[in-house]
Amino acid sequence: MSLSVHSQLGPPGYFARHRRQRLLAQMRRLPGLDDYSKRAIVFAPHQDDEVLGCGGTIIKKIEQGADVHIVFMTNGRRSHAGHMEIDALIEMRRSEAINAAAILGVAEDRVTILDLPDGKLGEHKESAVASVGAWLERIRPEEVFVPSRYDGPDDHLATYQFVVDALRKTHQSPRMVEYAVWFWHYWPWVNSDERIVKSTLRAFLNALMRPIRMRREFNACVDISACRDRKLAALAAHESQVKRLMPECDWPILSDISNGAWLAACTQDIEIFSVCESDCIPR
Ligand SMILES: [Zn+2]
Repeated sequence: MSLSVHSQLGPPGYFARHRRQRLLAQMRRLPGLDDYSKRAIVFAPHQDDEVLGCGGTIIKKIEQGADVHIVFMTNGRRSHAGHMEIDALIEMRRSEAINAAAILGVAEDRVTILDLPDGKLGEHKESAVASVGAWLERIRPEEVFVPSRYDGPDDHLATYQFVVDALRKTHQSPRMVEYAVWFWHYWPWVNSDERIVKSTLRAFLNALMRPIRMRREFNACVDISACRDRKLAALAAHESQVKRLMPECDWPILSDISNGAWLAACTQDIEIFSVCESDCIPR
């Protein structure tokens, strides 16, 4: 099954289009990863972030013989909590994650769900850091993938921070590869007018500064054009996130966000990263 992304990339208008083209040209000039065969753990806050942020790169790594594990920090229970029974939703997201991983080339025995509460990961620091540490000890990855340190929302920021804490505790310093998910939720990728009007000055400055800071941070760009279809197929396996499973109720899906512009930006033929070689764990 494949997911077609019909939505146009970003808001219309000359200025937005021009800015996107410039940014994309800059990103495409960045180097890729120098070695795709490194043993890796991908830490994902929610079931779908692994595909959105680095699905194409996972496929490339598997093709190069890398041993890739995926650790989901939360159980995904919040996405449609008002629409179905929670245990059934958690089970659905678990099986979708396994199906998506299989399409990326990652076997079920390399997929772990820590089962911490979706939306409240930050309140479970101790157990999250302990669990992440245990997986780091077990796999001894040469490379870890985490959401960008600037990539909200809270579960994403907590995932980044808890992995850093666990690396310090276990005295490991693999290559850190930060991936982007919500970076794409800013102008010029989406139309942010509505959010700017509603926001306070502080939120506005944040909205302005975060993408600028992130743009400065990204130092790698992986061309995934050869495996983009498989990335889309893996995303489609997260059915509850891309298909209105109960059309009679208001079942939200990813393409609702910014009229599909955000999803279109996340599923381009590139993936961008902030890569830091060993000894780069921030104090
Ligand atoms: Zn997420």
